[in-house]
Amino acid sequence: MVTTPDPTVTARARYEPVIGLEVHVQLLTASKIFCSCSTRFGNPPNTNVCPVCLGMPGSLPVLNRKAVEFAVLAATALNCRINETSIFARKNYFYPDLPKGYQISQYDKPLAEHGSIEIKLDGSSKKIGITRVHLEEDAGKSLHEGFADAAEKTAIDLNRTGVPLIEIVSEPDIASPEEAYQYLTLLKEIILYTGVSDCNMEEGSLRCDANISVRPRGQKEFGTKTEVKNVNSFRFIRDALEYEIGRQVDVLEAGGKITQETRLYNANEGKTYGMRSKEQAHDYRYFPEPDLLPLVVDEKWKGEITRQLPELPEVRRQRMVNEYGITEYDAAVLTYTKELADQFEEAAKAATNPKRVANLVQGELMGRLKAKNLEITQSPISMRGVAMSADLVESGSISGKMLKDLYDLSFGRGKDFAKVYDEQGRPVQSSDTSALEKIIDEILASHPKQVEQYRAGKKTMIGFFVGQVMKASKGQANPQVVNELLTKKLEA
Ligand SMILES: [Zn+2]
Repeated sequence: MVTTPDPTVTARARYEPVIGLEVHVQLLTASKIFCSCSTRFGNPPNTNVCPVCLGMPGSLPVLNRKAVEFAVLAATALNCRINETSIFARKNYFYPDLPKGYQISQYDKPLAEHGSIEIKLDGSSKKIGITRVHLEEDAGKSLHEGFADAAEKTAIDLNRTGVPLIEIVSEPDIASPEEAYQYLTLLKEIILYTGVSDCNMEEGSLRCDANISVRPRGQKEFGTKTEVKNVNSFRFIRDALEYEIGRQVDVLEAGGKITQETRLYNANEGKTYGMRSKEQAHDYRYFPEPDLLPLVVDEKWKGEITRQLPELPEVRRQRMVNEYGITEYDAAVLTYTKELADQFEEAAKAATNPKRVANLVQGELMGRLKAKNLEITQSPISMRGVAMSADLVESGSISGKMLKDLYDLSFGRGKDFAKVYDEQGRPVQSSDTSALEKIIDEILASHPKQVEQYRAGKKTMIGFFVGQVMKASKGQANPQVVNELLTKKLEA
């Protein structure tokens, strides 16, 4: 009997992608990893260089202690085990931006191993293993534009040569482009929290290469992988992986074979292209770097470093949920950056009702920021301003409607809440009971049925009446006063 494949199952669904990511992160040290040259980005080309980072004969590298501390901090945050002894190795290859002919890296004895982070996907979580974190030096940069005769020539800027990097290699645990995206987002967030890198992708402080293969679902052996390089945003990586999975499945379905190769992603076309084979000399010869001693991070030093580790985002979110009674979603938004989370916590601690501060950020601040295309870090209303406004509402001094108006003015004028509140003459909401009582009388008179229900014991009707009065007062009334007056009249 001939079995035909179920036509409802696409070819793609019969395959399973296997993805591993290599992330390079530049460390925020003031000087390079093996010399005292500045690491500053954007200086004139070839001004931050010396015989050491240029690899001149006779020059000797000296390891930057700060780079080690940063690498240990990052590796610890990624739950890695720090190896007490790790070895620097020369990775030999020729490239115009590498005048030494080798890069100092770590090979079989890396700084740290056996880590993991836990990504969240559709409400469940998945652990992605981190094989290793090692230290190495960055290479220079080839420039193809921004100078005279750029059309004919390539220029080399060696300022980046010797900037400290960590390479973070994941296990092939990533099973979809979306998981890759979530992994990278979380990884970046954790690194940012440790403060060891600015993770600025535009300036190249965070770069990612992806290894990808597909295999028929259920098969244990990995398929042949390709490596996708030169992708400069997480979104593009997701797109590149999506494309590459489709391409590999098509090749296999047509009876072809995947060639192990490096491919470049063209974001404009949304496609990957194989590099010419001579550009991918993968035959690095590694050998121990003779000019550097083994790196020893003993328990004492490790302890000193890891004591500086701040509370990491996931732990912080959970604590904020417990401590301020906010939702997980609130906590996720409020920990967008460490600075924002710090500001929020400062404000929440100062305010009478932390939950109200969180609600105002979510409800009133975020919407206005989005409408103006601003990041929360660019908000005219500071967290202190949010705390102040929360307290004013909490005490009944201003109404929700007044708060909205004041927020609008803040955004319109680009001024913080306290300033606008002063400029408006520190308004307070009406608790003029005679005007309110008139409104209440009218509302009770026009809703006899609801009054009857309340008096028959349906006390929850009070909410309905408060709503009606607030509406009639255009939000100016103090809800607490309205509640008291209503109760008095209904109970009379
Ligand atoms: Zn140098």
